[in-house]
Amino acid sequence: MLDLPRARDRMVNIQVGRRGIHDREILQAMREVPREAFVEPGFEEFAYEDTPLPIADGQTISQPYIVAFMIEMADVKPGDHVLEIGTGSGYAAAVMSRIVEQVYTIERHPGLAETAKRRFEKLGYRNIEVRTGDGTKGWPQAAPFDAIVVTASGPGAPLALQEQLDVGGRLVIPVGDDPDLQRLLKVTRTGAATYSEEDFGGVRFVPLIGEQGWSENGTVTKVGRPLRHPHPISLPDMIAAAAEPLPDFDDPAFGALFDRFADRRVVLLGEASHGTSEFYRARAAITRRLVERHGFTIVAVEADWPDAAAIDRYVRHRRPRTGAGAPFQRFPTWMWRNTDVAAFSDWMRRRNEKLEPSEQAGFYGLDIYNMSGSIGAVLDYLDRVDPQAAKIARERYG
Ligand code: SAM
Repeated sequence: MLDLPRARDRMVNIQVGRRGIHDREILQAMREVPREAFVEPGFEEFAYEDTPLPIADGQTISQPYIVAFMIEMADVKPGDHVLEIGTGSGYAAAVMSRIVEQVYTIERHPGLAETAKRRFEKLGYRNIEVRTGDGTKGWPQAAPFDAIVVTASGPGAPLALQEQLDVGGRLVIPVGDDPDLQRLLKVTRTGAATYSEEDFGGVRFVPLIGEQGWSENGTVTKVGRPLRHPHPISLPDMIAAAAEPLPDFDDPAFGALFDRFADRRVVLLGEASHGTSEFYRARAAITRRLVERHGFTIVAVEADWPDAAAIDRYVRHRRPRTGAGAPFQRFPTWMWRNTDVAAFSDWMRRRNEKLEPSEQAGFYGLDIYNMSGSIGAVLDYLDRVDPQAAKIARERYG
């Protein structure tokens, strides 16, 4: 037996919330709208899958996450006047109708528009108006809009839609001529004749067909504003666009590039290159900067904690543990037992020397692969501070 309300809740929590959509209105609206009522008969059991699904006329109901993402990008909020181009199943319009005052939605296929209308009536969603027609021309009689969401991809942002935005209004539209990869664009009207543009990354949508979109045969009819990225962008292009040149690790300008994370509580330094000296030196330079300039006091590393604790005693000027073996003897020894980490530990030790214990930065391991070392350290500690607990711990480890 399908438990659709439970599946809906899971979909909202896992596919939407955990992917970074935190807007409460959107999450609540998605919890309310029964997506199974918008899929084709027989597809109900897939309604909460993390995927688009086929609907009539060769079109699709979008993936739930992308629906949420576009609504969030368009900054759709209570009281807004919203236009959607591409009604499709009606699902996205239904979700927005739970947030805003009035939704207008246009679909070029009359059959889809009719089905969506019937769905809204059945569910009692009375603040959605559906029209059959070419959405690239907008809905001038209902303009201006606070937000326009286009759920099909065009060659550019249609001028008619931009002109129907209120000042401060947002238009969200996928653009690009590659059927497999388009860019999600947000155009904000900043003044009577001024607009700003943001790019929200790669997406894949069915084509926007109409006077200011593509023609039926795939050519451009009338393009709106020129695009910043007129060509489809490959993965290497995207990486190149996001990458920033880094100066030498020893150049103070290197560490300064990470000042942007100064206000974070936790900064995670990842790598794809276990074992390269370059990465270890870069990691040390970033950490030095965060500790020295921004007051970070915990260096937590992916290493066995009793082994890391040996470094911690060294950097915080504490006595070595009596009888402890040499740390970092276990595979992969090169990860921490190397000259770059030794130089970094020496730096921490020198810096800590001048500080009160409460201001010193410590070095902590997060792993417990070294079971015997970890057990030994626990027992050693309990023997000193709580011999009764040490006895119980010994029994349990046994
Ligand atoms: N928002 C829909 C939903 O929640 O099910 C998904 C829409 S589907 C990805 C895109 C829709 O845009 C299709 O139904 C397609 O027919 C429609 N479409 C394409 N060009 C259009 C145009 N110029 N005007 C209106 N609708 C258009």
